[in-house]
This record gives sequence, C-alpha cells and structure tokens, in this order.
Amino acid sequence: MPISIQLAHVSKIYSGAGSEAVRALDGVSFDIEQGEWIAIMGPSGSGKTTLLNLLGCLDQATSGVVRIGETDTAKLSRSALARFRAETVGFVFQQFHLIPHLTALENVMLAQYFHSMSDEGEAQRALERVGLGDRATHLPSQLSGGEQQRVAIARALVNDPKIVLADEPTGNLDADNQHIVLKLLSDLHQQGRTILMVTHDEQVGRYADRRIDLEHGRVAEAKKHFSAEENRDFDEVLQQLWTTRERQGHRESPRFDESKHRRLINTMTRIGLVEPHNGAVGFTGKGEERARAVIRRHRLAERLFVDVLSIRDWGSIESNACTFEHVLSEEVTDRICTFLGHPVTCPHGCSIPNGECCLEKRTLKNPAEISGVFSGLRTI
Ligand code: ADP
Ligand code: MG
Repeated sequence: MPISIQLAHVSKIYSGAGSEAVRALDGVSFDIEQGEWIAIMGPSGSGKTTLLNLLGCLDQATSGVVRIGETDTAKLSRSALARFRAETVGFVFQQFHLIPHLTALENVMLAQYFHSMSDEGEAQRALERVGLGDRATHLPSQLSGGEQQRVAIARALVNDPKIVLADEPTGNLDADNQHIVLKLLSDLHQQGRTILMVTHDEQVGRYADRRIDLEHGRVAEAKKHFSAEENRDFDEVLQQLWTTRERQGHRESPRFDESKHRRLINTMTRIGLVEPHNGAVGFTGKGEERARAVIRRHRLAERLFVDVLSIRDWGSIESNACTFEHVLSEEVTDRICTFLGHPVTCPHGCSIPNGECCLEKRTLKNPAEISGVFSGLRTI
C-alpha cells in the first residue's frame, strides 16, 4: 500500500515574465522509504513549498528525476499527471483551501469527484474519522480554524492516498488544534502511509521519523547539535540498551512510546550512536562509550546518596540520580568515585563501569552483601 519516493538532482527554476529567473531548488537528491514520515524544514523561501508541489505532481521539475513508486513523473503528460496525482496523493495546506460556499461534506465530496465519483456515505465516514461527523452541513465560515483543517484532512484522506503531503499543516492553529492535527497525522503514519510535512516548527518536526533541511534550494547538512532534552532522551535509550545487555533476557519496561522510540533510534543511528545488530539495535563503539559513562554517573550518584547521605527513600534516590547522570563532569565523577573508594557495584548490586581513576585501585567488595538492602527496587 505505501510507496517510496526518489529525487535525483532535482532543480526548479521559475522564469517570471520580465523578472529575473529564480532557482527555487538546486540539485536536490534524497530517497524516502515506504511509510516514512519526513519533516521538510528550512527558512522561508528555501524551497519547501516548491519541493512539495513537485512531489504532489502540481508542477514538474526543470531538470532531474522525481520518481514516485515506479513512476518517473517527468514522463507523464499533463492529463496523466493530474490522474496520477488524484490517485496517489492527498494534500493538506496551511490555508485549508476549502470552497467557501460548499459545506464540509460537499468539500470532501469534491475531492472524490476529481478522483472517480462521489460517494456521500464514504465522505461522511471521512468526516467522522476526523471527529466532525456532526458538522457535515456546516460551511467553512461556520467552523473554527482547527475544524476547517480537519475537514481538509478528511478531504485529503477520502480517496485513500498512498502519500500525504502537508504544507505547514499546523501553521495557523492554536496548541490544542495543533495537537489534534498531529494526532491525525500520527494515525495515518501508523496505517503505513508515507507522509511529507513541511514545517518551520522544531517541536512539530520532532513528530517525524526524519527531517530534511533545505537552505537556499539545497539539502542542508544533517543537524549536528541537539538540545539538552534530546540528549537526555538519547541517554535514556543508551541506558536501556546497557541494562538489557547486562541482564540478558531481562525486558525493560518501555520508557518511551513506540513511535518516539523509533524516531530516537533513527536519529541515533544517523549520528552514529547505535546500529542494527542481529535484527535488533546495538551500540556502536561511540554509543557504548557514552552509555558506559551515563551508567557510571548514575550508579555512583546512587552510592553517594545511600552511603554518604544516608538517603533511604528510593524515589528520591532515583530521581536525583537521573538528574546527576546528566550534569556531572568527568572530573567530578572521578572524584566521587575516589571518595567512595571506587565501589564495584551500585546499591542494588549492578556493576559500576570503572573509570580512569579506578584502574588498579578498586577495593573489591562482595556485591551480594550490598545488594540485599535494596533488592526489589527498580535498577538502572
Ligand atoms: P518556502 O516554501 O520554503 O518558503 P518556496 O518554495 O515557496 O519557499 O519558494 C522558493 C523560492 O522560489 C522563493 O525565492 C520564491 O520567491 C520563489 N518562488 C516560489 N514560487 C514561485 C513562482 N511561482 N514564481 C516565481 N518565483 C517563485
Ligand atoms: Mg512555503
């Protein structure tokens, strides 16, 4: 059902009458896999809408190849292009583009008309899927912005398109409606549809599996810097992988929902922290080093709270260790380790990876002796 997309050296030049030609896209190449959700990001004028128009067969490239599934769109005549578009693509625009004198239901049926033939029952069901079954007879002017955008989504979906293209779909919406629209797009993604969504909003962009950044009509280099929040998420995943490996067969309770986890794994693969390994996800060398450091900080912090500060409230130990693991520098971590006498295990008996400071200095304690106190508590 889903469909893959390939762009190879795609350029688009607008040659306005009398005015200078504008190179809106300049040698853009990328592949999109079936069922991927892509965020196309970049400043105003960077070519995002132009790109979406080419993908949606509303326009054709000046040069290069746009291949959708098996079809090279440059080879289609204008009428074949229109047919292909109606059968393959569903559009959601920032400005909704509803016909003002048609009701919500008629707006959806119009899309069916261009595709094949209208079917009122089907159109009504499309409105129900976006939670607007009771607004079918309302005109766009009688609906809120969020509701209009949901009608536009119902219209995009009524022909069961394999690709959904959305140009700033949340651009004109308040936070609540933004959430509703993103939830609808998430559902479409779950159903296996390929989604390309233009946005300039970082938060919205994070819903996608992957982002493609445009800059002056070209694909910009992959992002290298991440926010503190994103880094914390990476650390969480690395910790999960570490503890799972440590206790083979043990299954960690998931701390992210499935789609967020998949997005994180995609990003972490791209920046070289994890890689596919025997059908699952494994560390790269760089990822393992980082996981080791996070685990070490967390478990040393736990020892500090228990042994030195005599804290016995597990909730407090856990939440503070989770904070400490992100803020302790290597130097401070080594000092804590030295102060504690280079402990081998955390309060639950899990081993603490050693650091530079503990080489040959560890006093081996019996892990069983220490672990008894906190057995049964969640361990990291
Ligand atoms: P974005 O969506 O990222 O803001 P666009 O794809 O709309 O960018 O525009 C990219 C560049 O192409 C801009 O410089 C814009 O002015 C120009 N452009 C877009 N559409 C046309 C057009 N139909 N005719 C001439 N220039 C255009
Ligand atoms: Mg635009």
